[in-house]
Amino acid sequence: MKRVAYPAAIQALVGELKRLPGIGPRSAERIALWMLQSRDARPLEVSRVIREVHESVRACPRCGFFTTEALCEICSDPARDAAQICVVEQATEILPLERTGVFRGRYHALGGRISPLDHVGPEDLRIEALVERIKAESPSEIILALGSDVEGEATANYLATLLRELPVAVTRLAQGLPAGGGLEHADELTLSRALAGRTAMKS
Ligand SMILES: [Zn+2]
Repeated sequence: MKRVAYPAAIQALVGELKRLPGIGPRSAERIALWMLQSRDARPLEVSRVIREVHESVRACPRCGFFTTEALCEICSDPARDAAQICVVEQATEILPLERTGVFRGRYHALGGRISPLDHVGPEDLRIEALVERIKAESPSEIILALGSDVEGEATANYLATLLRELPVAVTRLAQGLPAGGGLEHADELTLSRALAGRTAMKS
């Protein structure tokens, strides 16, 4: 006898949900059936906001943070200190730094870090854009808030060497961040201490 399964449309929904981070096959099935059956479920609303976020949110052309405008909220705020640019690997690391409340400068997300094993070289990152920004905005300090793992170190050293000829100081966050990078997971106190205790790589 043929084994009965859910209709293909339900299987497709389960399949898509299963691909989401942290959602296993059983959770995917449970969510799909909840969407179909529950009075409280709002599957059309969910699909609408997913579409909206996909169509309207993009990377700020200057710093890489998320925005729905021409420039992000940070870059377009005249009260931010143009003298400091804090360089992070990913845009998702900007908000954890913001939450410390101690940094008033601007950011620059590289979009990753140099990692030969993953075939990521300097040309794959927003490094050229950083150099252009330094020339255009003339900040006095570049703060490298990169991971403390091998790739983060390699990226920091590459940048310090690259920026040697430019009239800008280069500092890095104090050690004490979680091993393997991951600024997103560092608590506010650790981050504000790391910012306050930053050390010079180049003056
Ligand atoms: Zn921006």
